Amino acid sequence: MTYKGRFAPSPSGPLHFGSLIAALGSYFQAKSQLGQWLVRIEDLDPPREMPGCAKLILKTLEEYHLEWDGDILYQSKRHDIYQEKIDSWLNSGQAYYCECTRKQIKAQGGFYKGICRDKKLTNSQGCAVRLHTPEPVYQFNDIKHGELTINPALAKEDFIIKRRDGLFAYNLAVVLDDLEQGITEVVRGADLIEPTGRQISLYKLLKKTPVSYLHLPLALGNDGQKLSKQNHAKGIQNDNKKVLLIDAMKFLGFHIEPDMYNARMDEIISWGVKNWSISMLPKSTGSIPLFSNRSL
Ligand code: GLU
Repeated sequence: MTYKGRFAPSPSGPLHFGSLIAALGSYFQAKSQLGQWLVRIEDLDPPREMPGCAKLILKTLEEYHLEWDGDILYQSKRHDIYQEKIDSWLNSGQAYYCECTRKQIKAQGGFYKGICRDKKLTNSQGCAVRLHTPEPVYQFNDIKHGELTINPALAKEDFIIKRRDGLFAYNLAVVLDDLEQGITEVVRGADLIEPTGRQISLYKLLKKTPVSYLHLPLALGNDGQKLSKQNHAKGIQNDNKKVLLIDAMKFLGFHIEPDMYNARMDEIISWGVKNWSISMLPKSTGSIPLFSNRSL
């Protein structure tokens, strides 16, 4: 089977250093196996999106010589597919409407305990749609880290596939789209370890073989904060690209000699593909300071 990997940014902000690490890790892992590397724009949440951001992310990927294969998939164009699946589960009783608010769930101990499962609510107004999780997944195998365990209370929850505000949930879209794009392996940040259990339970429900997973450690900025859009990590479109590229590659465990700074960006990327190895990745499944793994 041909390897197919992907990078799936949400256009809620420009590409930042943390997402450059995910882009590079997934690219090197795909290309070192002569596989394909696809890009999907996860534009599921318009209120959190920045106008023009998807274009900016794609332009930045091009500037880093990260060339994707095939067409880009936009989640905003797949609403009918998501809704069709939700309707079929509502009809079969696998999914149900839930009127619980976040506040109510917090008052019940922070985890949803299936309160609306038997209420047979029919009015979708102001309700979320939850999936009755048939086979909770409590652990999974990560290519780098081996068996990873998921908080059992979280794994057991009937999770949301459509939000109260009418937006489709990330876990549903990500699985349907990875299937649509024929992805064989997902390489992404360790912040997505917890939802992996839910995603694997969706594959089981759909009677499909789950992708394999590799989670990359997250970089902590100088202020000790995770580099993410939520923490307003700075966009990298205006920075010195070569320096950032080399910093990101060092974070991923590459040993890089000083003369690499004399190479062109495309040469550095090709060198990365040739020299990529999962064994050199930092062992952490959490966040580590940017330069703790520095080889120079
Ligand atoms: N869209 C998600 C993000 O930008 C990544 C989803 C994934 O890789 O599964 O954090």
